[in-house]
Amino acid sequence: MGGDVRNVIIIGSGPAGYTAGLYTARAMLDPLMFAGYMSGGQLMLTSDVENFPGYPQGIGGPEMMLDLRAQAERFGLEVQDRNVGSVDFSQRPFKVETEGEEFFAKAIIICTGAEAVWLGGEGEDEQKGRGISTCATCDGAFFRDEEIIVVGGGDSAMEEATFLTRFASKVTLVHRRDVFRASKVMYERAANHPKIEIQTFRQVKKWLSDEKGLSGAILEDPRDGSEYEIACSGAFIAIGHKPITQFLGGQLQTDEEGYLVHSELTMTDVPGVFAAGDVVDKRYRQAITAAGQGCAAAIDAERWLEDNVH
Ligand code: NAP
Repeated sequence: MGGDVRNVIIIGSGPAGYTAGLYTARAMLDPLMFAGYMSGGQLMLTSDVENFPGYPQGIGGPEMMLDLRAQAERFGLEVQDRNVGSVDFSQRPFKVETEGEEFFAKAIIICTGAEAVWLGGEGEDEQKGRGISTCATCDGAFFRDEEIIVVGGGDSAMEEATFLTRFASKVTLVHRRDVFRASKVMYERAANHPKIEIQTFRQVKKWLSDEKGLSGAILEDPRDGSEYEIACSGAFIAIGHKPITQFLGGQLQTDEEGYLVHSELTMTDVPGVFAAGDVVDKRYRQAITAAGQGCAAAIDAERWLEDNVH
């Protein structure tokens, strides 16, 4: 076995990861973080965060993540912007492989979060990253003065639709039923916006395109199968997220949707491997709850190391 054995390796760099980094660094555990090629997680793709306590005027998602990173680094967190390819939790110290290089640690904290889900309908693959996107913050500006649709009925859909009004001439939000998961405040902000039209009981059956790219969609009413055509040159899918766990190779227990499961406090079913944030939490999924869980995982890891590793 080559190389040093770290006390803690943190995998993932959203609010959970950086908070775990801050706490383990302040506990003098000399933590190493693999932040991923796109460090910062989903908040790097968010415009304004208005519900993180302590920012009365709100704060940009990327700005907040850079601040969290700087704060953790100030106390000694080492961050490498690399993706983890695989892990081996069958032996101790645990092994973490990135770009063919192997690293070892006595404890691991997994904070890899979740990624956007695509609809998977006809014509979607051809338009992915062109006319159809899952990230308004990244791609909204490509659709200046154009008509856009947003699919979904949760906070993400409301946020994306509202954000896209900065660019689009019209935003049509389509949702498959007439009950919205979105919080009232975010729903109302979208529903009351003059550029946003909300259409309920509409599902995308098929995407349409012409030589210029996306041109529209065939929508279907799930109640009776009736079809409607809508014109749009951009579409944003905001129908939820799935946890990022592929690199774990099935070594940790998950629930039926693939979210990691805590066995004891924030520890997974492998003693010494902890998990925090959206990779384990499908209920709250907020920056503040992820940060809180990252803190808890760091404290649990610190105590576990004290009690179990000499
Ligand atoms: P979500 O709350 O799970 O909502 C997903 C939406 O997509 C639901 O309306 C769902 O419809 C719809 N959907 C799912 N699969 C679909 C399909 N195959 N076809 C059509 N529609 C489909 O997910 P989210 O909006 O991404 O939010 C996730 C979490 O992040 C939430 O806890 C939310 O509060 C949080 N969040 C917070 C903010 C903020 O506060 N600033 C911003 C964004 C997200 P059904 O309702 O019919 O199932």
